[in-house]
Amino acid sequence: MHTMVPDELLQLLKTQKYHIVGQHSAVKRCRWLYNTLIHDRTCYKQKFYGIKTHQCIQMTPTLFSCTMRCLFCWRAQTGDKGLKWEETAQPDHDEPGSIVEKCINAQMRLLSGYKTNTKVNREKYKEALNPRHAAISLTGEPTLYPHLGELIKSFHKRGFTTFLVTNGTIPNALSELGEEPTQLYISACAPDKETFHKTCRPQIPNAWEKLKETLALIPSFTCPTVMRITIVRHLNLKHPNLYARLIAGANPTYVEPKAYMHVGFSRLRLGYMNMPLHEEVQRFADSLAEETGYKKLLESRESRVVLLSRLEKPAKLEKAI
Ligand code: SF4
Repeated sequence: MHTMVPDELLQLLKTQKYHIVGQHSAVKRCRWLYNTLIHDRTCYKQKFYGIKTHQCIQMTPTLFSCTMRCLFCWRAQTGDKGLKWEETAQPDHDEPGSIVEKCINAQMRLLSGYKTNTKVNREKYKEALNPRHAAISLTGEPTLYPHLGELIKSFHKRGFTTFLVTNGTIPNALSELGEEPTQLYISACAPDKETFHKTCRPQIPNAWEKLKETLALIPSFTCPTVMRITIVRHLNLKHPNLYARLIAGANPTYVEPKAYMHVGFSRLRLGYMNMPLHEEVQRFADSLAEETGYKKLLESRESRVVLLSRLEKPAKLEKAI
């Protein structure tokens, strides 16, 4: 089991509170789960799209694998702490139904920690025991998992909505996806090829060209699509006009410029000063809006994210399936 990665990595992930599920998947408690249960403060996805924070499972089917090594990523990467493993291959393939079931069980274990906490909102806690949304976004590149469409389908069959976040470097996996997620996120975190290589450090050939292929696929999806731009001060927070060209070509339903957060393993690669203020995200979003004609719909100061769209208001996804 887990022969593909060093034991030390597994230990590190466990100390960072990753709940490892089967051979290559994981669930992690999102900080917003704590915030919503104790302080009644919700994640921006609830504000933007109606996804209830306390009923959301943050998971990945590709805990150890990715085609890139983005400097801003919170995941443990080859090179961090002197660890090394093959990141672009995923030899063990757990069955999608069992991943879903084990993820729900892991979420239950994680929620059990709140059972006797008197500060918890009891109504919300009861609802939380019936999760309804899977954010397939925790870490790694999910399109490396060959049964991703079936995984999404398994969640939908259980009445979940799903958000899929991909780095877009495997366009074939997306064009052949058997089941669309409720909403598809594609990260496009550079305005040009040079910045892309510096920021995202791809581990496969022609990654920039493949990302552009994926962006060209966006109009073929029927679900809402989001271009996610994680912005890092002194790195990719520049040339909004070039980002605007990517947006105009792909025409996603939404654009979410969001600040890099100095958390997890990214702290080994970037400094606190690389984290843009919300005002910088706002200014960047203003420039994108001006260049593309997208409108600023909503924002979350706490998460340092702005929502842009051609729509008048975002679609609420709670009852999407
Ligand atoms: S593509 Fe995503 S998971 Fe992979 S290194 Fe970049 S941010 Fe991390």
